[in-house]
Amino acid sequence: MWLRERVKLTAVARGAAKADRYVRGGLLLNVYTGEIHPAQVAISGERIAYVGVRDDMVGPRTEIIDAAGRTLVPGYIEPHAHPWNLASPAALARHVLPLGTTTIFGDTLTVYELGGLGGFETAAAALARGPLKFYWLIRPHGQSRTEDEARRFPVGAIRRMLGNPWAAAIGEVTRWPDVLAGRRDLLERLALAPAAGKRIEGHTAGAGPEKLAGLAAAGISSDHEPITASEALDRARQGIALMLRQSSLRPDLRGLLAPFVKAGAFGRLMLTTDGSTPAFVAQHGFVDNLVRLALEEGVPPVEAYRMVTLNPASYYGKDADLGGIAPGRYADILLLEDLLEPRPAAVIARGRLVARAGRLLARVPEPPWRRIFATGRARFDRTWRSARSGRAICTRRCSIGGAPGSPPRPSPASAPRWTASPRPSRPTTRSWRSAGGARRWPAPSIGCCA
Ligand SMILES: [Zn+2]
Repeated sequence: MWLRERVKLTAVARGAAKADRYVRGGLLLNVYTGEIHPAQVAISGERIAYVGVRDDMVGPRTEIIDAAGRTLVPGYIEPHAHPWNLASPAALARHVLPLGTTTIFGDTLTVYELGGLGGFETAAAALARGPLKFYWLIRPHGQSRTEDEARRFPVGAIRRMLGNPWAAAIGEVTRWPDVLAGRRDLLERLALAPAAGKRIEGHTAGAGPEKLAGLAAAGISSDHEPITASEALDRARQGIALMLRQSSLRPDLRGLLAPFVKAGAFGRLMLTTDGSTPAFVAQHGFVDNLVRLALEEGVPPVEAYRMVTLNPASYYGKDADLGGIAPGRYADILLLEDLLEPRPAAVIARGRLVARAGRLLARVPEPPWRRIFATGRARFDRTWRSARSGRAICTRRCSIGGAPGSPPRPSPASAPRWTASPRPSRPTTRSWRSAGGARRWPAPSIGCCA
């Protein structure tokens, strides 16, 4: 597959074969050099074959995408997300593709805890067929310490998940005190990542400089948990790559960026929404919102776009596939009306036009949740009621695909309220609608409340 694809890409680049699509007339933000220059982009299949001035690879069947007056930037990358929070990853993808996010590095805890190894593999395979690419951060332990952890997270299962072609790292390592204490059973699981040529992604909430040294020594190479500028600097000084966070959990980004803006040094900074709720994303946006905030804080545009493209791609060792508009990479390209407006006018993902003017044009397949969440642990033993009608939404013994014990509760007055949609979008899936907006999210529930 790789060889055949490269032979074709090379032929298109030479002009010896015709491109499938050709993006004509745009200005290109080159994240490798920091330049903005005119460029035509030829696409073959799901990758970029050529960037330059020639058009001899345009044939009668080549689809022309007119980018006149637009600036081309790479598709946005979310380096640390929890795509199972109250919505399914597929529902999240449908919402954020029109906002310009074409790649998500996502946590596996929920699907592994509820669906097991088989559930993860089935979900990863189904999502790998969609236009938004999901890479996976393999959880090596539960959210908190439990006595049966060795049974629930055996080395063999983690090794196998890391071997999945869409696994990018072990993450997020919330149990950092045990890492620092040198607990052998945990370090044994972390050691699987470098053995597979992959990163160990951290979660070092509250760790001071002295402890951070030990965590970096253990192999933890990134963190999204600094909540103050000084905590961010503490981590950066220890060589830990930063994912600066703006989420419904903590809206810290403006303050975190301040010392870097003041110094005019941005290094390899990344930005993340972490575990934002659907209501927060519906209200503010996704990675596009992170870029907007960075620009508002005075980050130069080239650096702001690098933070959500080349930097995360490089951190995960995926820069040959992601993060820039260059031959050989996935054709994930956003057409912006203005560099200062990060919400795109059109989105190309995996070589196809998938969104225009905020509307999704592509199909995102929904994984077979009934098969994935077939275990007893996926049973949810509570009753939910609609905030408006009082109608029971989910009765006892439902199977759920969201986080256990965290149903979409009606929110206080300030936040959008989650209510049952009058008509389920599919027979086995209910939709949720934010009362403050028109966007619909398939709920995590499956097989309940028929
Ligand atoms: Zn997280």
